Amino acid sequence: MSRVHVIGAGIVGSAAATWLVDAGHEVTVFDTEPDGLPTSSGNAALIALPEIAPLASPGILTAVPGWLLDPLGPLTVRWQDLPSMLPWLLAFLRSAAPSHDVHVRQALGGLMQTALSDHHSMARIAGMEGHLRQSGYISVHSTPQSVSAALQEAERVKAVLGYAYEALDPAAARRLVPQLEGEFAGAVHQPGYWMVSNPLTVLRHYQAFLRSKATVVAGRVAGMEQGAEGVTLVLTDGSRSASADFVVVAAGVWSRELVRQGGLKVLLETERGYNTTFTDLGWNLAMPVGFGDHGFIASPLVDGLRVGGAVELAKPETSPNYGRAKAMRAKMRRYVPSLPEGGTEWMGRRPSTPDSLPVISRNPRDKRILYAFGHGHLGLTLSAVTGRMIAELVAGGPDVPAFSIQRFQ
Ligand SMILES: Cc1cc2nc3c(=O)[nH]c(=O)nc-3n(C[C@H](O)[C@H](O)[C@H](O)COP(=O)(O)OP(=O)(O)OC[C@H]3O[C@@H](n4cnc5c(N)ncnc54)[C@H](O)[C@@H]3O)c2cc1C
Repeated sequence: MSRVHVIGAGIVGSAAATWLVDAGHEVTVFDTEPDGLPTSSGNAALIALPEIAPLASPGILTAVPGWLLDPLGPLTVRWQDLPSMLPWLLAFLRSAAPSHDVHVRQALGGLMQTALSDHHSMARIAGMEGHLRQSGYISVHSTPQSVSAALQEAERVKAVLGYAYEALDPAAARRLVPQLEGEFAGAVHQPGYWMVSNPLTVLRHYQAFLRSKATVVAGRVAGMEQGAEGVTLVLTDGSRSASADFVVVAAGVWSRELVRQGGLKVLLETERGYNTTFTDLGWNLAMPVGFGDHGFIASPLVDGLRVGGAVELAKPETSPNYGRAKAMRAKMRRYVPSLPEGGTEWMGRRPSTPDSLPVISRNPRDKRILYAFGHGHLGLTLSAVTGRMIAELVAGGPDVPAFSIQRFQ
């Protein structure tokens, strides 16, 4: 049994702590705001098992210039933040090489092999079975070219993971999702997607489990002291933790400060996303719907409909532009005219690496320090497998090179 400190009570830190508790360790979780609403609380709720393509795909580069010209389009940069993001952006562009595409699909495909069974196991550990369901997913497309690109991607995913898919004409798509009354060219249905009931409910359940089986401390970690006897956390109020045998850094985008302070390099920036949640529609979609040409989705939560996504590259602290949430609602009405005004707007911060791979790794200079961050668009999906892998690293298991922090050194 080891004493393990986990920094961050988002879904990734909570997952790591849950698996560590299950392995019999004495776990303490530190979070600036354990009752707060981090990115993990408001995402689209998808266990997106077929999503193994890197964001920086060879194809995306041709689309990016057009998107950037539309300030409310699927990808924008807050220009005042551009200088500080240049190293990340240059690495992102380098990642668009075809060889990297293959590498990412293999690496993420490996994680996806157990992502779902690990979610089921983790739910059993925390006594919360029943929040997962196989929802399927349908992407709708405005042009035949966009349909055929989506079919090609679905075929590539099938080759790696075996997931089935089917092409649908608009009438067949409307039989699955009758609210799709607007015009579109076609759709692709992928039954291999799962959903959680509601990301906030799930996060709160894991946090409550941790309050009962571990110690949860409200406090912002400013740094670490690595002594011979153990690692001590220094909090921003000047207090110090008891010493630990292992520390897991799972602080979302803010992990980068803790990494750099330890003398290591990392490229981690925020892909911010916006959404709107409707809780009083009186109707819901039968499955999540992706608007393939616009970079956002509508997901039926157990208690409402959530519409959003898109990517805004900006510093975490830059003020939100909720015009983006409004633009996605307006675009959705082209396909689903019954979507009303109103709803609650939200902004979240995806902690993203330029190569679309998370960091699940030991610190090569001090093996007592472990990293679990950088899950970008897939933090909920990959939370359980990441938590299991962190528990295996604490138990002395091997590093997985594809997810190592060494790639940034
Ligand atoms: C619009 C949108 C939709 C998304 N949809 C999906 C989806 O459908 N499926 C999916 O898999 N993923 C989705 N994601 C991505 C997913 O939400 C993120 O990858 C995930 O939430 C990241 O979790 P995390 O625990 O790493 O970070 P966070 O949720 O950001 O949690 C980090 C925690 O660390 C704490 N912290 C930070 N610094 C410190 C410090 N110094 N000391 C103490 N505590 C600290 C913070 O307070 C916070 O609680 C979406 C994201 C967005 C924005």
